Amino acid sequence: MSAQAIPVPNDFNKVLYAPLAEVDPEVAQIIEDETWRQFSGLELIASENLTSLATMEANGSILTNKYSEGLPGARYYGGNEHIDRLENLCRERALKAFDLDPKVWGVNVQPYSGSTANFATFTALLEPQDRIMGLGLPDGGHLTHGYYTAKKKISASSIYFQSFPYQVDPKTGYIDYERLATNANLFKPRMIICGGSAYPRDWDYAKLAATAKQHSALLMADIAHISGLVAAKVQNNPFEFCDVVTTTTHKTLRGPRAGMIFFRKDKDPEAEAKINAAVFPACQGGPHNNTIAGIATALRQVSSPEFKEYAAAVIKNSQALGAKLLSYGYKLQTEGSANHLVLWDLRPLGLTGSKIEKICDLAHITINKNAVAGDTSAMVPGGVRIGASALTSRSMGPADMEQVATFLHRAIEISQVLQKEAGSKLLKDFVAKATTGEGEGRKLIEQLAGDVQAFATRFPLPGVPDSSKIQRPAGH
Ligand code: PLP
Repeated sequence: MSAQAIPVPNDFNKVLYAPLAEVDPEVAQIIEDETWRQFSGLELIASENLTSLATMEANGSILTNKYSEGLPGARYYGGNEHIDRLENLCRERALKAFDLDPKVWGVNVQPYSGSTANFATFTALLEPQDRIMGLGLPDGGHLTHGYYTAKKKISASSIYFQSFPYQVDPKTGYIDYERLATNANLFKPRMIICGGSAYPRDWDYAKLAATAKQHSALLMADIAHISGLVAAKVQNNPFEFCDVVTTTTHKTLRGPRAGMIFFRKDKDPEAEAKINAAVFPACQGGPHNNTIAGIATALRQVSSPEFKEYAAAVIKNSQALGAKLLSYGYKLQTEGSANHLVLWDLRPLGLTGSKIEKICDLAHITINKNAVAGDTSAMVPGGVRIGASALTSRSMGPADMEQVATFLHRAIEISQVLQKEAGSKLLKDFVAKATTGEGEGRKLIEQLAGDVQAFATRFPLPGVPDSSKIQRPAGH
């Protein structure tokens, strides 16, 4: 059959067919710069990962064009026969990835992010002003678990619900489950939330479930950070004990940026309808089908034996990095890690998280300042959070992580030189010396930055078919 001639687009539509570099060189340049940054630096942000080429292809696909409010088989728009297949496939894969029985568990894969997944869950299962207990933000919890300060209710979860945080033991850094239980006796929560953003240890879901049961409270796990590790069964299983489990899809799960909500159907026959209605129409509009395709693709990978190897390697790498830091005499919260991250307490060194984050940034090492147990000021966090997920995706192993720890050790030494040169403890003086100074500290940063780039560019960058073709953009 001869191909039918398709007319050329009219002039005002020509822009729809040209590649990005031609249509928008400014954005193309930003993407090129960011590709170089990811390739030539060390990505240690614990909430990040490097997703696959296939996931990015799905995420950047034509599926972005389609509206599909509602659920498969019950949409508010026509033309959804393929989107229905996609969302069903994604839901099946989500349950399979976590080894869940579809008779007991259901899942909603539409949340745009982890934050909306959490708020939709509260909307579905709580009444306004119900009481919730989550790990406090300064103790490693997440904003969306009820965070507020003395002056302000920061998160919508503290505006629309009554929140009372639980904490880690300031001496050990481990969650103080006993104090949580005592406070729950007084506060009588309707929901206990477990999961965090900066907790280097696994969770005792059985203990939390016992406390929740005492108060007929719901138990929710937000496994955003560790969902890839849970799916690979290298962390405790929250599904055994919880009523509802939320996650992001872009951290250890290594998918596109989004969220999911898993709910138990057997205990509360209305849970499915309540969660689905809370996602849409209560909290969101049309699902992002390109993202759902990306999640489905990532979940297929999560169910593979290779992903199980990856997840085990993430923990080994985090532990190798932690062990090397400890060997230099540094202090880690809980003295190590049982998951993908370590929390490094810088206070004994007279340094702050902000200073080390800044020095590392200048040396192409990306980390973030973070509160550590016992911090008194949330404005000046005393530590940094370091995650191994992304570098493990770049095929680094324990020996490489030791090298990374050595770079971090150099960053500390440089900070101590700069602190002396600055002659004050103020961040602005320190940053001035680090960025514009003529002294020894500035020279040492430049050396470290060069060594980091030489090391990082030896490893492939996921999502790029041939990393040897990544060019250093002009001016870098
Ligand atoms: N829950 C936890 C535990 C997180 O760490 C995060 C983000 O880091 C979120 C929820 C929010 O996810 P998102 O940024 O996708 O809204």
